[in-house]
Amino acid sequence: MASYKKQYKKLARSLSQLGFIWHGNLQRRMLPCKQQHCLCNTKGVPQHGPYPYWTTKVEQKTVTKLLTAEEADLYEQWIRNRRLLEQTLKKMNEISKKAATLLITDRKNNF
Ligand SMILES: [Zn+2]
Repeated sequence: MASYKKQYKKLARSLSQLGFIWHGNLQRRMLPCKQQHCLCNTKGVPQHGPYPYWTTKVEQKTVTKLLTAEEADLYEQWIRNRRLLEQTLKKMNEISKKAATLLITDRKNNF
């Protein structure tokens, strides 16, 4: 039990250091341009980019937005922070479940 408490407190403390978070995902895509004579429209020739896109779900639908380099750098970090938060919460849930099992089993044995 002491070890669960220790692990849990460590995770909870790490959350206090967490920076801002952002929803959705960031992708970088290569795209052809619209200039007729550009080689990028030929198969096998590299396209332009990568361009940073942010995607999220709004009412079950995927919404996509082209970002500036400045936005992409910021949101990339914030999305990374959110993933870290989600992973930490998952671990805290797992430890809590183990702790509950331990506590409830111990109590049963006492009766
Ligand atoms: Zn092109």
